[in-house]
Amino acid sequence: MKRIDKENYYLDIAQTVSERSTCLRRCYGSIIVKNDEIIATGYNGAPRGRKNCVDLNYCTREAMNIPSGERYELCRSVHAEANCIISAARSETLGATLYMTCRDPGTGDLIAGSTSCSMCRRLIINAGIKRVVIRDTREDYRVVDVDQEWVEQDDSLPKQV
Ligand SMILES: [Zn+2]
Ligand SMILES: [Zn+2]
Repeated sequence: MKRIDKENYYLDIAQTVSERSTCLRRCYGSIIVKNDEIIATGYNGAPRGRKNCVDLNYCTREAMNIPSGERYELCRSVHAEANCIISAARSETLGATLYMTCRDPGTGDLIAGSTSCSMCRRLIINAGIKRVVIRDTREDYRVVDVDQEWVEQDDSLPKQV
């Protein structure tokens, strides 16, 4: 048996976490790892006690066909990265790596090219997370250097819309 590389080992765990996701549009799973220890796990789902997209059988964002990257408030879920971050102390997330996978709830297939939304990027930056590793396929992944890619090239908003 071939020994799995470390990045894909953690991505496999993040993918297992995504199996608990409750959204009908996308199933995300993420974990935060520091010094080879898993600090926190999170998947996207409704705030505790509220009904989930799967319970109601609709996700407004999906029903309205909102394009990727827009109107996140129309899905009732708290995002996987946010759930991860709020269950960890900042001292634990400083310098850590966040692993994330995204799957289609209908087929269960991995979705390549996913990334964190602009609000989660802000949380990741302030949690002091240094790397975000995002799975594209079973073997392939992208590594985001948070300082270089999400701090320096900030998601500057227009002065007026
Ligand atoms: Zn949803
Ligand atoms: Zn997000």
